Amino acid sequence: MLKLDILVLSVHPDDAELGCSGTILKHIAHGKKVGMVDLTRGELGTRGSAEIRDQEAAASAKILGLAVRENLGLPDGFFENTREYQLKVIAAIRKYQPSIVITNAYHDRHPDHGRANELVETSAFLAGLRKIETSVESALQDAWRPDLVLHFIQDNYIRPDILIDVTDFWDKKIESIRAFGSQFHNPEWEGEPQTYISSPEFINVVAARAMEFGKSIGVKYAEGFTSRKILGVDNLFSLK
Ligand SMILES: [Zn+2]
Repeated sequence: MLKLDILVLSVHPDDAELGCSGTILKHIAHGKKVGMVDLTRGELGTRGSAEIRDQEAAASAKILGLAVRENLGLPDGFFENTREYQLKVIAAIRKYQPSIVITNAYHDRHPDHGRANELVETSAFLAGLRKIETSVESALQDAWRPDLVLHFIQDNYIRPDILIDVTDFWDKKIESIRAFGSQFHNPEWEGEPQTYISSPEFINVVAARAMEFGKSIGVKYAEGFTSRKILGVDNLFSLK
């Protein structure tokens, strides 16, 4: 069994690259095992197709150095926080037994993001209840509840509860975003309709947000996270 330190559960392939790939890269560089389970294939995206997104997600997984990247194939735009989908997310959490789960922002421009946050938060709790039975390849799974669920910040400004310095990993983060050539500004895709995220300015906005967060802690780039749980640290000097 592959046990992960961090499991990233986000709704669209590319959300995690935008929201938390610097943090992923940093923890992998520190020897942590990180994997991703995307909830949908992003099949409703205006540009490209589900097949192209699959290839882009695989290319980005290589850039990031993920231990695994899977897709649950939930219906983009139409999944709900219901038993049917909770059981799929519970099975994914139990399969990899992560200490930390990272998921989408609790509210955002795209309504899927907030719904994914609720679905993952609910499922992370339920995954710890042993009377809920799930199986993988017909073997019954053990109950597992992650210690912590964090939410990254994507389009809407949300005041973060913690900031992670990702300055050393910024270029690699941009490379992982650029792996989604169909979604972001790319001269090869000029004939396709333009979207909110495909304009050349979009990447500048991602950088501006990270620089604004970075400034708060005296570094160049940072990623922000929120948590429903109150967070603690070993001692005050771990804070900056
Ligand atoms: Zn998204």
